[in-house]
Amino acid sequence: MAALTLMHISQGLRRAGKWSLDWLIPPQCLVCRGDIAEASGLCVTCWSKLSFIEAPFCEKLATPFPYDQGEEMVSAAALADPPPWDRARSALLFDDTARILVHALKYHDRHEAGLLMARLMVRAGADILKSADAIIPVPLYRWRLWRRRYNQSALLARKICRDTDKTFRPELLRRLRSTRSQTGLDHEERRRNVRNAFIVPKQSRASVAGKSLVLIDDVRTTGATLEACARALKAAGAAHVDVLTFALVPKPKQLHI
Ligand SMILES: [Zn+2]
Repeated sequence: MAALTLMHISQGLRRAGKWSLDWLIPPQCLVCRGDIAEASGLCVTCWSKLSFIEAPFCEKLATPFPYDQGEEMVSAAALADPPPWDRARSALLFDDTARILVHALKYHDRHEAGLLMARLMVRAGADILKSADAIIPVPLYRWRLWRRRYNQSALLARKICRDTDKTFRPELLRRLRSTRSQTGLDHEERRRNVRNAFIVPKQSRASVAGKSLVLIDDVRTTGATLEACARALKAAGAAHVDVLTFALVPKPKQLHI
């Protein structure tokens, strides 16, 4: 009971952003909740479980290649069904450890998970961020934003902009309508679900035309939402659209996430 109470107090204080109280309540690993030396981090064991996506990977899908393909940097899957964006980067493969971090940010208000996720995204997306004129989070529809209180993609995008001196431009893309949850839908159903759901508002078109833009989301599953966003930006005249996610589901067969 005492431990439970301390945990609740700890969570309450963390949510209040009172980091100076770390001396009283030791920081915890974001995944296993074991004590660690510094806040906003992972213990050594959980860190070693992360599946980083390292080169060589497909330039367009960020899917890792089993071996170095030399000059050929685009996978057969990207050639067969080319995405509407130019380049994709992702920090990690989506596995159990990545899932805990994503859920910590999305459902449990653990904003310090966002700090770590953004840091890993800056590292994974260094080249696409370098050439970006603006960073755009995948927008949530208003009522969902209200219900969840914040948009996790916007939170990540804002932190990435702070770390890279890039411009945060959420207003360049708007979600026109509420779409049913993508959970449990296959790629085609997801594509239909989000078709024409995004638009570049008229007053933002001048800021999109001819520009290099990076779209930010937490997880890329089938990529249907990011496809719809990239199409809207390209239709408004964007010169380049790249996508950067924290985690990538390499073979999205199981869509119950
Ligand atoms: Zn841990």
